[in-house]
Amino acid sequence: MFKAILIDKNDKGQQVGLETLDESRLPDGDVTVRVECSTLNYKDALAITGKGPVVRKFPMVPGIDLAGTVEASTSEAYAPGDTVLLNGWGVGETHWGGLAEKARLDSRWLIPHPSAFTARQSMAIGTAGYTAMLSVMALERQGVTPDQGEVLVTGANGGVGSYAIALLARLGYRVVASTGRLEETDYLKALGAEQVIDRAELSEPGRPLAKERWAGAVDSVGSHTLVNVLAATRYGGTVTACGLAQGMDLPASVAPFILRGVTLAGIDSVMRPREDRLEAWRRLGELLAPEQLDAITRTIALDEAVEAADDLLAGRIRGRLVVEMTR
Ligand code: NDP
Repeated sequence: MFKAILIDKNDKGQQVGLETLDESRLPDGDVTVRVECSTLNYKDALAITGKGPVVRKFPMVPGIDLAGTVEASTSEAYAPGDTVLLNGWGVGETHWGGLAEKARLDSRWLIPHPSAFTARQSMAIGTAGYTAMLSVMALERQGVTPDQGEVLVTGANGGVGSYAIALLARLGYRVVASTGRLEETDYLKALGAEQVIDRAELSEPGRPLAKERWAGAVDSVGSHTLVNVLAATRYGGTVTACGLAQGMDLPASVAPFILRGVTLAGIDSVMRPREDRLEAWRRLGELLAPEQLDAITRTIALDEAVEAADDLLAGRIRGRLVVEMTR
């Protein structure tokens, strides 16, 4: 038997709660993992509250990230006792996920747990930090270097934004943070931002081209913000796009692309090939100080996850929430 958050749906709507389940109910997979920690991402909160169409199959155990120890395996890649990490691959959406004491998974979705971190620390990073790292890697691959000028991070107080600031600053970039919460300026500067700007400067419809400022940018906001960032990106610069906190639309012109050679690099973390995942987690291990992670993390128990999902969507949580199964 194991405990899990279970989401189900019937004609009365969605129900969610902590349940004790028989192991025979675990889905197919060649590796069974004893989950040590998971985390609560925005996407998990949408799944738990039913406020977004994240869950594609019912009943579902949410949780798009997990860290734990292999308990049983028929895969040659993993043996009992190995510690492993998982981000995405549709887990918590179409396959039972990490907000449970046990998970049965496809071994191809797992990577060895990074030795630089404890399970609590890797879950403090979670999909948010891993996506920030993928975004920074995309800037590097496009040739954006610290000597070229300022790099903008939008959605700065969010999970992706906060990690993007920390990673870029550690790599020597001059980071400008855009936020709707100017009262958090000290926090953003402590993460490594040189300057903090009001997101209102970017959120309204603007001109197709603006004064060139950004050598690169990491955007998790989309909509007019992303359009204005593209319009102010310097000749040959690159902007990464991973999110839609302002909106899914992109009311843009092609001017930045055809007149300034700007690149818009799309970032998907869910189906990302294994090699990139391994590289991203290796880099995260090199660049993030474990004590930095502990400072921004609050740990909760599995039975607190449902209530915390409401708080997260209501913007009452700062930093990252780790869910520890033995708590
Ligand atoms: P968070 O909720 O932690 O952060 C989002 C931030 O965006 C907020 O903190 C806020 O920052 C800013 N924001 C919120 N609403 C608005 C608005 N209306 N206009 C402008 N800015 C706004 O989310 P995450 O950082 O975890 O994720 C950010 C986005 O990236 C989400 O859309 C998420 O779905 C997506 N994502 C995509 C992934 C992928 O694989 N493509 C992976 C991970 C996340 P501030 O208060 O500083 O203004």
